Amino acid sequence: MSKVHNFSAGPGILPLEVLKQSADACINFDNMNLSLLEISHRSKNYEAVMDESRSLVKELFEVGDDYEVLYLGGGASMQFAMVPYNLLTEAGHAAYVNTGVWASKAIKEAKIVGNTKVIASSEDKNFNYIPKGYEIPKNADYLHITSNNTIYGTQMKSFPKTDIPMVCDMSSDIFSRKINAKDFSLIYAGAQKNMGPAGSTMIMVKKDVLGKTGRKMLSMLDYNVHIKGGSMYNTPPVFPIYVTMLTLRWLKQHGGVAWIEKINQQKADLLYNEIDRNSQFVGTTAKEDRSNMNACFLLNKPEHEAEFDKLWKSANIDGIRGHRDVGGYRASMYNALPLESVQALVDVMKAFEQKFA
Ligand SMILES: *Cc1c(COP(=O)(O)O)cnc(C)c1O
Repeated sequence: MSKVHNFSAGPGILPLEVLKQSADACINFDNMNLSLLEISHRSKNYEAVMDESRSLVKELFEVGDDYEVLYLGGGASMQFAMVPYNLLTEAGHAAYVNTGVWASKAIKEAKIVGNTKVIASSEDKNFNYIPKGYEIPKNADYLHITSNNTIYGTQMKSFPKTDIPMVCDMSSDIFSRKINAKDFSLIYAGAQKNMGPAGSTMIMVKKDVLGKTGRKMLSMLDYNVHIKGGSMYNTPPVFPIYVTMLTLRWLKQHGGVAWIEKINQQKADLLYNEIDRNSQFVGTTAKEDRSNMNACFLLNKPEHEAEFDKLWKSANIDGIRGHRDVGGYRASMYNALPLESVQALVDVMKAFEQKFA
C-alpha cells in the first residue's frame, strides 16, 4: 500500500493495525471461522466486544460506575435531538453555546423539544473564535457546548465552570487530550472523527441526570431504555463498534490519552508554526482558540491555488481541502495521523513558498 498522508476531516484516518485486524475479523472473528458480520450480537464473543468497548471509554475517561456508556446509531446528529429529549424538562430551559455549524444544528433540535436559550455565540465573526466570559444561568437544566468545531477549526482550551449538568459534543476531539470527564454529565461523539468508523455514536452519561423530564418517552430515544438493554436494546452497529474497540485498545496500549496528547500538540505546533512563518499562508481563526485537530488556513494569493494543489497532491497528501462553508484548506490531525504526515505537508508549504515568494 503506497503511503497517503490522510488529513480527512471525517470519516478520518484510523491506525493501520486496526484496519488490518478489522479486515481479518470480517472473515474469521475470534477463531470462530465465522465473520463478525454474520454472527448474533447476543453471542458470547460479541458481548465481549460490547463490554470492552464500553469499559474502555470509562477507563480512558477515568470515571466510575455512576456513568454509563452507550453506542447507538444515528450519528452525533441524533444526539442533537436525544439530549434535549432526555434532559430538558417541560418547565425548565436549556443553555447552549453556539460555536458553529454543529452547535447550531444542536440548538435547532433543542428548540423543537423545549425552551432553549443561546447564552453565547461567535456567529458575529463567522465562528472564528470561542466565546468567553459569558454568564451561565444557574437554573438551566443543562449547558450544551461543543469542545472542537470541526468545520471552523476552533477548540475550547478550557471548559466553563458551572454547577448545572454540562453536556458536550466531543465528536472531533474525543480522547485527543486530557480532560476532567467528571465535570461533564454527558459526553457524546460520532465515532468517525477520532475514535472509529462511521455508524456508531458513543454516549457517556451520568445516570443521575436521567429520568427527570416527566415526558412519556419513545423507547428508541430513551437513554434509560438503552442502558437497561446494555446498549443492545436493538441490534447495535456491530462492526463500527468493533473497530472502535480496536481503536481504543490501540490508544490504551500505546499509553492512552496522555501519550497521544503530546503527539497531537507536536503536530499542531509544527503546522501552526509553519502557517505563521510562511509568507504564503494565513490562519483563519483566533490564535488562542486554534484547534489541535482541524487547522484551517488560506493562501495569501488565492490565484496560486492550482499550483499549491498540484504540489500537495504529488506529495501523496489527501483530504486538506476546506469545508464548503469556509473554503481554503483544512488539515485534520486526528489521533491516528502520524507526525511524519504533518511534516510532509509542512515541507510542501515550504517548497510552495520557495516557488512563489
Ligand atoms: C461531524 C460532527 C457532527 C455530526 O456527526 P454525524 O455523525 O454526521 O451526525 C456533530 N458534531 C461535530 C462536532 C462533528 O464534528
